[in-house]
Amino acid sequence: MAGPGQKVVLITGCSSGIGLRMAVMLAKDEQRRYHVIATMRDLKRKDKLVEAAGDTYGKTLSLAVLDVCSDESVKQCVDSIKDRHVDVLINNAGIGLVGPVESIPIEEMKKVFETNVFGVIRMIKEVMPDMKKRRGGHIIVVSSVMGLQGVVFNDVYAASKFAMEGFCESLAVQLLKFDVTLSLIEPGPVHTEFEAKMIQEVRQRDCPGADPDTVHYFKNVYLPSSMDIFEVMGQTPDDIARCTKKVIEAANPRFRNLTNPMYTPIVALKYADETGGLSVHAFYHMLFNMGTLMHISMSVMKYLTCGCLRSRTISPN
Ligand code: NAD
Repeated sequence: MAGPGQKVVLITGCSSGIGLRMAVMLAKDEQRRYHVIATMRDLKRKDKLVEAAGDTYGKTLSLAVLDVCSDESVKQCVDSIKDRHVDVLINNAGIGLVGPVESIPIEEMKKVFETNVFGVIRMIKEVMPDMKKRRGGHIIVVSSVMGLQGVVFNDVYAASKFAMEGFCESLAVQLLKFDVTLSLIEPGPVHTEFEAKMIQEVRQRDCPGADPDTVHYFKNVYLPSSMDIFEVMGQTPDDIARCTKKVIEAANPRFRNLTNPMYTPIVALKYADETGGLSVHAFYHMLFNMGTLMHISMSVMKYLTCGCLRSRTISPN
């Protein structure tokens, strides 16, 4: 239970990746300002979190079951919190999807929207009314750079994050009237299970329904450059957790928080040309005409940035 003066922080999707590191970083706050309720679908997957939490487990960190895709699970979890009082809600749970659209069943696409969009909305609907009544609270949504700029072969995932950006832009205005803050965290690539799962899954997939040229562009052009980008530009889950903690602690939290400054120019490109042509063509050239050059540039960057970035290998841990 939260002690006097401690903020209750509820986080979704804490069994791995960014959510796990956010939970641990907030629970280990030196001033013990937070009581973290770290949630996951299945408590059988708690071991990594419990180990990382160390002696904060049972003190400033507690666990709860929560599946963002289930009304019942979300309600049960929030009802189990004393007075249903949540000061900070971090919507972190999410799933990825990559590949040629023709090869992805609609049901799989719906799962992405069910988790990344309706999962977040379900959480907000459950927690927001109490925050509005109390005239206070902070809702954080882990979006993505892909919520601002689409990326080839990530069509459905990007669409789900764009949907959340629109939802949050709209809701933030109303919430201001109730002194409730809404912030978006927009990471670029991050080394987590997300990426490992995606690459493993995609390599095995034979993309039924997609023509051989598309499969070739996907597997032999897009995937290698995506892996290069992850290796050179990828942040760690701790980087994202640190950025999120700063947002929670800011006197006036920003609405948009790009975690990786290397992506600022890419987003700026989009707004520099209202026809949209500049970014569509820039991405086209980067992928299809400059693939080899990009690979060489990335290798040079890897060399120049030495071990500090190169050591961030793809790892589910
Ligand atoms: P991850 O796969 O390690 O973590 C996602 C977590 O969400 C997992 O613990 C998973 O079990 C959980 N989850 C999935 N469906 C759920 C459900 N229905 N209910 C509750 N939990 C559920 O990946 P991650 O990179 O840590 O992803 C966290 C967030 O960061 C996601 O929203 C993702 O879209 C976003 N993000 C990730 C990256 C990246 O490159 N890894 C980049 C930008 C944004």
